[in-house]
Amino acid sequence: MHIEHPPELTWVSRPAQQQPCWPDPVSLQHVRDQLAASPPLVLAQECDLLTQRLAAACRGEAFLLQGGDCAETFAQLDAATIHSKITTLLQMATVLSYGAALPVVKVGRLAGQYAKPRSQPTETRDGITLPAYRGDAVNAREFTRAGRTADPQRLLHTYQASAATLNLARSFLGNGLADLRRVHLRNQDFAACSPSHPRYAALTGQVEQAFRFMDACGATPQRAYAAEFFVSHEGLLLDYEAPLTRAGRTAGPLYNVGSHMLWLGDRTRGLGHAHVAYFASIRNPVAVKLGPTATPDDALALIDKLNPDQQPGRLTFITRFGASHVRDKLPGLVEKVTASGSPVVWVCDPMHGNTQVTADKVKTRDVDDILDEVTGFFEVHRELGTHPGGIHVELTGTDVTECLGGSHPITPADLHSRYESGCDPRLNHRQALDLAFHVADLCLRHRPPQPEQVSRSAQPNRPVPLQRPAKGELR
Ligand code: PEP
Ligand code: MN
Repeated sequence: MHIEHPPELTWVSRPAQQQPCWPDPVSLQHVRDQLAASPPLVLAQECDLLTQRLAAACRGEAFLLQGGDCAETFAQLDAATIHSKITTLLQMATVLSYGAALPVVKVGRLAGQYAKPRSQPTETRDGITLPAYRGDAVNAREFTRAGRTADPQRLLHTYQASAATLNLARSFLGNGLADLRRVHLRNQDFAACSPSHPRYAALTGQVEQAFRFMDACGATPQRAYAAEFFVSHEGLLLDYEAPLTRAGRTAGPLYNVGSHMLWLGDRTRGLGHAHVAYFASIRNPVAVKLGPTATPDDALALIDKLNPDQQPGRLTFITRFGASHVRDKLPGLVEKVTASGSPVVWVCDPMHGNTQVTADKVKTRDVDDILDEVTGFFEVHRELGTHPGGIHVELTGTDVTECLGGSHPITPADLHSRYESGCDPRLNHRQALDLAFHVADLCLRHRPPQPEQVSRSAQPNRPVPLQRPAKGELR
């Protein structure tokens, strides 16, 4: 069976960055055909619902929490790993929701995050040069010629692994994993184990009071039991994304049915290139990573291509400047985009601009830098009167030792004991919660004064006014 591209797919003839060199075009086409004939993993209406939720984040009426591994691996496709990752996201969401007094839109960086862009196409060890590892969707980490050869069967494996992950995530979430009380109990345990951080216990204590109040009123909401949860991954491998692109109804708009949301990496956002054109052709909510080389004009051109109708929630910008640049690079970008009148969700990725390599060549990140970048992100938005719409984080649900610092500090000597990432260093479970408590604090300070909060139902689109603090007050 050979499936033709629909004519709308104008991206096919454009240059595509970061694509593997598949050795056998016939077997690649065979795999693409099988993917094209496979059932969708998500529904178009779920994607539209996420766009609506993100539109609320755009207006400052919701906060996005997007997180998961840098790269999922087939070896770590097991129930415990998926359970702990989702639990961590839910714990973070509860803390954030209390701090921000807003619904938190939960989007996993999972069920499809198997492909990686690389800074070098090859890797050399002891005089031997082989193709770089591009994620389990393409090749193996193992440094052998066979391992590093791109194998299209891995695309099918990626689809199956994503389906299994999503299936289990939906089951966990439909069977009480998101029960707010259970999530809150876990947060209380975490706070109790962090005696040097009394503010953690203060916040969980306030949540406890809120629960008791709701109980006393008989007002425990039904929704406290189940949680809305979405999935996302970097839309990198066009040979995977294209066959999973379908019209919802005959001749209806195209959706990528492999994930609710896709993002474009900082290396594949070139304007005339295939990725941007592909993203323009689908109706899912999309995001673009913007690093230090992104100019305000780049951002405007991306808006032009990806959200010409200026639909709120369709486009998210994930900025990742690093703690040392966020305060000087972000304002120009936000000002120009805001002046254009086009709605975007502003999200901070405090991971990718803060990577460092230790003397013994271990890739790591310091929690202090991560917290500082998020603080800078809030400061900038507060100064400009715009909304800090969310965070995008690489994390695990376990106690890996990949990033330095945190309330149960990881030292350089600890990095070797449990470094399991197939790619970039992730926050461990506790460091992820440290980040959530920190962001909750920022949100609490960032909240508009209560008397000004007139009924949202009366004025649904009213922007939430922000107080202007003295410069540096949030540090
Ligand atoms: C990533 O998210 O893992 C990544 C490679 O990010 P960026 O495109 O921002 O470098
Ligand atoms: Mn990464």
